[in-house]
Amino acid sequence: RLSATDVAAVFHGFAQAVERDRDLLTELDTAVGDGDHGTNLDRGMRAATEALDAAPPDTPGAVFNLVGRRLVSTVGGASGALYGTAFLRAAKAAGAASTLDAAGFAAVVRDATTGIAERGKCAAGDKTMYDVWTAASAAADAAVADGLPAVLSAASTAAGGAEQEMVPWQARRGRASYLGERSQGHRDPGAVSSRLLFDCFAAWAA
Ligand code: ADP
Ligand code: MG
Ligand code: MG
Repeated sequence: RLSATDVAAVFHGFAQAVERDRDLLTELDTAVGDGDHGTNLDRGMRAATEALDAAPPDTPGAVFNLVGRRLVSTVGGASGALYGTAFLRAAKAAGAASTLDAAGFAAVVRDATTGIAERGKCAAGDKTMYDVWTAASAAADAAVADGLPAVLSAASTAAGGAEQEMVPWQARRGRASYLGERSQGHRDPGAVSSRLLFDCFAAWAA
């Protein structure tokens, strides 16, 4: 089961992964967007982890809420609003529970994914971070009976598979869509950062 401390540790891991891959994320966004995804998310996750350290929340829901609020207020770009909405929805789904089990985590990812679709007005196949979240959510739902470690591992594997599978697609939402057919063959920056997040949850269970 994931406690508040566990979820905060996962977000610390995500902040480290984003810092490590900041240049990659920014290069990917330079090819299809405005070249700020790595710096946007690094700034946001730094602020989020500072807030978590300053006043450690005592439920997983409160951790998601704090991270979501910090991202919304520190990241100007689309990804701040999208990740921010995702984590605020995750917070609502987690409620006041002191831990998240397999079903609880799957519900959190499901509601976060719906939040991204509503905020981004995006659909499956638009080649955005949403495609990674839908794949992770479906895999998480399918693995619930096998327990939390299986859910986290299945979500991470599905996220990675989706991120690779969508490379040849044409982007239909976000800045990459302005490229039309020229967006084909490029990795989506938000899809790559989203898969990093699911990798961090899987690493907690490993
Ligand atoms: P910005 O495009 O404002 O500079 P970022 O570069 O930080 O924001 O984030 C870009 C990522 O956000 C994209 O790679 C994509 O995954 C995601 N994204 C952008 N617009 C949308 C949208 N309308 N729906 C879903 N995801 C989106
Ligand atoms: Mg950008
Ligand atoms: Mg931008």
